[in-house]
Amino acid sequence: MSLAQDIIKEVDAAGGAIVLIGDGVKLESDKGPLPDELIARARANKAGILRALQHPKEPSAWNDNDWRAYFGERAAIREHDAGVPKEDAERLAYEDCISQWLALNLPPPCPQDTCAHCSKPRGDVGTDSVAVLAGRPNEHLWLHHGCHRPFISARRGQAVESLPDFDGQRR
Ligand SMILES: [Zn+2]
Repeated sequence: MSLAQDIIKEVDAAGGAIVLIGDGVKLESDKGPLPDELIARARANKAGILRALQHPKEPSAWNDNDWRAYFGERAAIREHDAGVPKEDAERLAYEDCISQWLALNLPPPCPQDTCAHCSKPRGDVGTDSVAVLAGRPNEHLWLHHGCHRPFISARRGQAVESLPDFDGQRR
């Protein structure tokens, strides 16, 4: 779920609604005023909310601002709520971004008789290859034992390439 979708849900839970009006969005509440902090976050993420409402089936369309907001929020929670030193809070927030990117950008489907990493025949299950969940219902990929680690590290590399550089966190 994207940051924008989280905010839409929070507004809903607080008794309000974010409605699409023409090319813009409007915050409504019939149960009294919404928390200022929530209104501020909704304003700051207006573009993402607009996109989420216009294209509800495209959760992976996060732009750099969405990622920076997510990174900042994850780091702030650890640093201010859990007392984790800033450097560690940011390093862990970066790992959160990688996990989130991997969940939003699933590996492409792959023929069931080949290895998803090297595209060669998968061989015998167990002896030569293992099943890996693809993230979609009832679908898995096959990987040779020796292809598992490079597959994971290539996926991580894609995430690092795609994410913005959060103040030098990229590694
Ligand atoms: Zn392979």
